[in-house]
Amino acid sequence: MQVVETIEQVRAIRWRDPFVEWGLVTTMGALHEGHLALIRQAKSENERVGVSIFVNPTQFNDPKDLEKYPRNLKHDLAMLEAEGVDLVWTPSTEEMYPPNFQTFVDVEIMSQYLEGASRLGHFRGVTTVVAKLFNVFQPTRAYFGQKDAQQVAIIKQMVRDLAMNLEIVVCPIVREPDGLAMSSRNARLSAEEREAANVLSKALKAAEKQWNSSKRDAVALRYEMRSVIESEPLAKVDYVSVADPTTLEELNGEVDRALLSMAVFIGDIRLIDNIVVGR
Ligand code: AMP
Repeated sequence: MQVVETIEQVRAIRWRDPFVEWGLVTTMGALHEGHLALIRQAKSENERVGVSIFVNPTQFNDPKDLEKYPRNLKHDLAMLEAEGVDLVWTPSTEEMYPPNFQTFVDVEIMSQYLEGASRLGHFRGVTTVVAKLFNVFQPTRAYFGQKDAQQVAIIKQMVRDLAMNLEIVVCPIVREPDGLAMSSRNARLSAEEREAANVLSKALKAAEKQWNSSKRDAVALRYEMRSVIESEPLAKVDYVSVADPTTLEELNGEVDRALLSMAVFIGDIRLIDNIVVGR
């Protein structure tokens, strides 16, 4: 496994043989089984796999969140080595944002909804860094988790709009045995908060059950999710949503197919989760 920092090194390794297919998994480190599932899928579909680790400052609208974001490079590298990853790219902030950096990628409409409404400028930071990672790495395929459903919808839109030459592969959400979606942020939960955090998946399951029993009104689905979350004293709803999975527009009336999603504060830790109902 090669671990490199500079753009030049990545390009040299990536283009050593132009006929080799590369899969790329972009991460912010603090790796867990959710990341590893992406890497394993990338390994099964490509001859070589690269992983980037970069805690991207432009996607954090809260400096405290950026500061507290878990970092554990040594542990991450050991996990990636064990998975048989070929190339790890750990760029510095200066490499990604050199002095006088002034070019941003903005997927204008979809970036305003859901996470974008709560975290102003978040997706502008995400699409800018992902565009740069793609541009440097030029993978055949890039792998993203459905955990960040809006992120993946926006990245697909960006790839389509800018005719980027790669395939986006979406992988299912990896959960703990009790249903909590794996996240680097889970490491910051106390034992009591960890227990309370189950309320996200419980609320989604309750809404899914309602949808399965043909009670498919969007307002009622939102109400169901909100009431389950509000039954947990340590949880505070940021938003609950029933939206079109592709355009991310909020839906009303009976829904055939929808992205049910939410952001919930457990103490001061903000967690997200989602599920898609309908085919
Ligand atoms: P992050 O390091 O949080 O930026 O995540 C890197 C990639 O891993 C993103 O594509 C995430 O959607 C994906 N990911 C994070 N957690 C999970 C999970 N529990 N299941 C599946 N994919 C995940």
